[in-house]
Amino acid sequence: MPIDPTQPYDDNNIFARILRGELPSKTVYEDDSALAFHDINPLAPVHILVIPKGSYVSWDDFSQKASDAEIAGFIRAVGKVAREEGLVAQGYRVLANIGMRGGQEVPHLHAHIFGGEPLGPMLA
Ligand code: IMP
Repeated sequence: MPIDPTQPYDDNNIFARILRGELPSKTVYEDDSALAFHDINPLAPVHILVIPKGSYVSWDDFSQKASDAEIAGFIRAVGKVAREEGLVAQGYRVLANIGMRGGQEVPHLHAHIFGGEPLGPMLA
């Protein structure tokens, strides 16, 4: 069920709980500003989610409220994960779903990284 991206941040959303260590995740990368882990329902041979550690509902929320350092840290983390997964030479996709029409289901900003095979026109 897609979320309303204008809702207040829900501290009990699934990714907040992963960040607090209350739920497990297959973590592939972590630094001060971001956490990356395998998607539980992969749509490509490589399907990783990268999330900022700050409490932001969506790309819209993040782009308005996050500090420049948080934004830079998140973007750099996405690039670093893709490099570390060996995706750069063959190419990959970064995607963020936002709100209802975007099909966003988890109300904590996340970037999907897809790779490992030729990708169709849309994913997720
Ligand atoms: P969205 O549609 O962009 O919000 O994508 C949410 C993604 O989170 C989906 O691809 C889900 O498979 C994924 N997901 C949901 N719960 C978990 C989890 O506990 N661990 C890892 N991925 C999850």
